[in-house]
Amino acid sequence: MSIEVKNVSKYYGNQAALKDVSFSVGRGEVVGFLGPNGAGKSTMMKIITCYLPPNSGDVKVAGHDIYDKAIKVRRSVGYLPENNPLYPEMYIREYLHFAAGIYGLKNRKAKVEKIIETVGLTPESHKRIGELSKGYRQRVGLAQALIHDPEVLILDEPTSGLDPNQLEDIRKLIKRIGKKKTVLISTHIMQEVEAVCSRAIIIKLGEIV
Ligand code: ADP
Ligand code: MG
Repeated sequence: MSIEVKNVSKYYGNQAALKDVSFSVGRGEVVGFLGPNGAGKSTMMKIITCYLPPNSGDVKVAGHDIYDKAIKVRRSVGYLPENNPLYPEMYIREYLHFAAGIYGLKNRKAKVEKIIETVGLTPESHKRIGELSKGYRQRVGLAQALIHDPEVLILDEPTSGLDPNQLEDIRKLIKRIGKKKTVLISTHIMQEVEAVCSRAIIIKLGEIV
């Protein structure tokens, strides 16, 4: 299994955002994490990527425990957070070099060029991030998530706010990337799951339904 979630609960104060959630995702699967706003999708993804600790439960990613092997988990995971936080004043290459540096990668220059090609950023690659359309910004976010060639990709609503053409392009790209990775992709759109995923995990009010 690439992702194993067992009996995870998470509270924000008194409010339970996740209640005894369990699921697993096999190696190479592309799975939709489907649910309405407020269901707990982002919270679960933050736990899987070691951004937030759960209150209880166990999570393993690529065989590594999130408590004992957090660094290994982070090395195994590429994460595109909700709303794709980027630095608009940075150039694309500058930003991707920065991301590669965080992972301590060797041959950064070659890796940045390769990932620019993989995500289809080549025609825009000389620009600052702030100058890009939303679809191309998503590609930068995906490039950042892929730069260290992780086994697992966690994509939090990667197509939200895109126009129909951009949506189609980004879905195709995710499908192509998904052939070589384990992907968990959150959405509240059923058609997105049908377009990109092989199955869905449905969550509502913090519980798998
Ligand atoms: P989704 O991504 O499915 O929209 P979230 O995981 O963002 O859901 O949120 C689940 C619930 O937890 C919501 O009710 C939300 O308001 C609450 N929540 C999320 N983050 C916080 C936070 N940092 N502090 C307090 N409540 C939060
Ligand atoms: Mg969310």
